[in-house]
Amino acid sequence: MIHRQTLTQLAADLRARKVSSVELVRTFLARIEASQPALNAFVSITAEQALAAAEAADQRLAGGGGGALEGVPIGHKDLFCTAGVRTSCGSRMLANFVSPYDATVVARLKAAGAVMLGKLNMDEFAMGSSNETSHFGPVRNPWNTALVPGGSSGGSAAAVAARLLPAATATDTGGSIRQPAAFCGITGIKPTYGRVSRHGMIAFASSLDQGGVLAASAEDAARVLREMAGFDPRDSTSVDRPVPDYLAGLGAPLQGVRIGVLKEFFDTGLDPQYERCVREALAVFERLGARLREVSLPNIPLSVPVYYVVAPAECSSNLARYDGVRFGHRCRDPRDLQDLYKRSRSEGFGAEVKRRIMTGTYVLSAGYYDAYYLKAQRVRRLITADFERAFGEVDLLMGPTTPTAAFALGAKTADPITMYLNDIYTISANLAGLPAMSVPCGFTAGLPVGLQIIGPHFAEQALLQAAHRYQLETDWHQRIPEQYA
Ligand code: GLN
Repeated sequence: MIHRQTLTQLAADLRARKVSSVELVRTFLARIEASQPALNAFVSITAEQALAAAEAADQRLAGGGGGALEGVPIGHKDLFCTAGVRTSCGSRMLANFVSPYDATVVARLKAAGAVMLGKLNMDEFAMGSSNETSHFGPVRNPWNTALVPGGSSGGSAAAVAARLLPAATATDTGGSIRQPAAFCGITGIKPTYGRVSRHGMIAFASSLDQGGVLAASAEDAARVLREMAGFDPRDSTSVDRPVPDYLAGLGAPLQGVRIGVLKEFFDTGLDPQYERCVREALAVFERLGARLREVSLPNIPLSVPVYYVVAPAECSSNLARYDGVRFGHRCRDPRDLQDLYKRSRSEGFGAEVKRRIMTGTYVLSAGYYDAYYLKAQRVRRLITADFERAFGEVDLLMGPTTPTAAFALGAKTADPITMYLNDIYTISANLAGLPAMSVPCGFTAGLPVGLQIIGPHFAEQALLQAAHRYQLETDWHQRIPEQYA
C-alpha cells in the first residue's frame, strides 16, 4: 500500500523507478478528496499543478536527475506563501490573497523536487491550540473526529496522521508543531530559532515563529528538514551556519547520552495515563544506554504568562498591516478612511485574533509597557538562563508534550485560559529559541501520547538521532488510525 510507506521509502522507490510521481500524486489526491468531508485538513487542493509537477519530476527521474525529494508529495501549512496559489493563513482577512512569490521554505522544497498537493488548514494566523479558530472551519482528529487535532498546524498534523501526505510543513510559535504532532500520533520537529527561513512565512510573533516539519518518523522529518534549513539573506534573523546532514548518524547509539527529565513538566495537571506512557519511553532510553536524571527549571512555570504578553504584543504589531488598503479584506462602501480601517479589520479578523491584538496593544501602551512587556522580556531571559544552566549538565531534556491527549471539539472554546494552558509544556522552548520535537510514545484511552525532546541551540541532529533510535525500538510511530490504515 503506497500510503503506508514512509517518505524515505517513497523517495527511494521513486529514484529506483519502482513507482512514478504521478502515481503517488494520484493516490494521495484521492485520499485527500475522500477525507475532506470528515477531516477538513485542506484549505486548497492543487490537483492540476501537482500532476503537472509530478510529470516533470518523473521526467527528471527518468533522466537520472532530480533533487533529494524528487517527486515526493507534500503539503504546506497555509501561511507559507505560494506563488499563484492562495495563502489564506486560515483567515477571512486573507481569504483571497495570492502571493506573487514563494516563501523560501516553499522554494527550497520545490528545488529539492517535492510536489505540493495543497495548502493545509490551520488556526487563524496560527493563533490557537485546537484548529477551531480557522475561518475555513475546524480540522478534525483522524483518531476520533469528535476531537480536535491540536493547533495551530492541525491540518498538517491530521493530513500526515491519516496518511493523506507523507509529510507537511508547519510552524511553531508556542507549540504548534509539537502539540498537534502529539494529538495526532506523529513526529514533529521545531528547529532552533533562525535555522529555517521565515521569509514568506506569514508572521504571528516574529521572535518566536519557526518553521518545521510534521512527518511519520524522525528519519522522514530529517530528510525534509535537511532541504528546508539553512541561511537566507532575506530573513534578517536567519543564522549563517552550515546545515549538518541530518540523516548522517541517525543510527548512532545513545550510550552515555545525558537526559534531563524536566521536573516541572510532571508537577501539575499531567494526566496519569499520559505520564505512564512518557515514563515508559524514558525507561526505553535508559535501556538503550542513556543516563537519566531529574532537572529542575524553576522559572518554567512562568512560561505561559510570559508568552501571552510577548506573543500578543508582537502580533498586534505584525497584524497592523492588514488595513484593507495594503493587504487583506476590504469592507464594502466605506464612509471614510476610519470606517474603512475599522470595518475591514472587524470583518476580516476572527474573535481570537482580535483578543490577541487587543491584549498586545494594551501591554505595549504607555503606562503598561514597563509593567507587562518589559517584565515579560526579563522573565523570558530568566527562562532562557534556566535552560542554559540545564544544558551545562545534560545533553537533552525530556518530558511530556502536552498535559493531556486530544480533547473534544468545543471543550475549551469558551475559556481561553484553559485553552492557553494546553501549551504549558511547549512554550518555553520557543521563548528560549531552542529546537524541540514531539515523538509518539503510546496511547491513553485509544489516543496518542507525545514525548517531548528539547535540545540546546542547533542540536537538531542530536534530537533526530535520539528520536530515531527510539523509533527503531518502538512502533508507536507506525500506528495509523484504523479508518485510514
Ligand atoms: N497555541 C499557541 C497559541 O495559540 C501556539 C500557537 C503557535 O505555536 N502558532 O498562540
